Amino acid sequence: MDKKIGDIDKLSALDPRFQKKIQDLFASIHESVSLLYEAATHDEKTGLYNNKFFETIFEMEVEKAMRKQQKLSMIMTDIDFFKKINDKYGHIKADEFLKRLADLMKKQVRGSDIVARFGGEEFIILLPETNLEKAKKFAARLKKEIHSDKILSKYHVTVSGGIAQYKDKETKKKFKERVDKALYEAKETGRDKFVAAK
Ligand code: GH3
Ligand code: MG
Ligand code: MG
Repeated sequence: MDKKIGDIDKLSALDPRFQKKIQDLFASIHESVSLLYEAATHDEKTGLYNNKFFETIFEMEVEKAMRKQQKLSMIMTDIDFFKKINDKYGHIKADEFLKRLADLMKKQVRGSDIVARFGGEEFIILLPETNLEKAKKFAARLKKEIHSDKILSKYHVTVSGGIAQYKDKETKKKFKERVDKALYEAKETGRDKFVAAK
């Protein structure tokens, strides 16, 4: 963008009256495009990627995994008893917990990982080039961080999660179903834990 503005500089050097106007116009277009990109790809409440953007990345990453170019793991999380947390502390406080958890997750992942808000209080983490063992280690670390976070631990905010590694020739739907089933098992067997999919 800077280079483009520079080029315009050269052109408008012929007529200095328009130079500033054209520069301002380009700066404003640049800002609008950035805002549009942010709104189209991110969730407003948590600042994480939104579900729509996640689906695009998910498609690309599964494609790569299908061609066996890389391993791919996925973690789906869901806050435990979030309805009760809302009832007990109110929606504003509960929203703060959502944001805090989102920030914590973002801090834990690598730059190439994707963290998205999948639903209301459900987050999804896509871990490219990661096998199940590494994904399990990551989930254990995440759980530890949640437990030691001063706000989340004070208000007893915990999460359950399902973990799965992409299996050869598996469809996206099937991959997601396995993660979802593992998450369900984590809920059914006591919550505040991560379960690896079969
Ligand atoms: P569990 O997952 O442990 O089974 O129980 P839960 O109470 O979390 O389960 P459920 O999925 O039934 O409820 C999710 C609740 O999360 C419903 C809604 O009140 C709350 N929730 C969803 N999105 C938001 C949000 O953006 N902000 C707030 N404050 N609450 C939300
Ligand atoms: Mg839920
Ligand atoms: Mg929940």
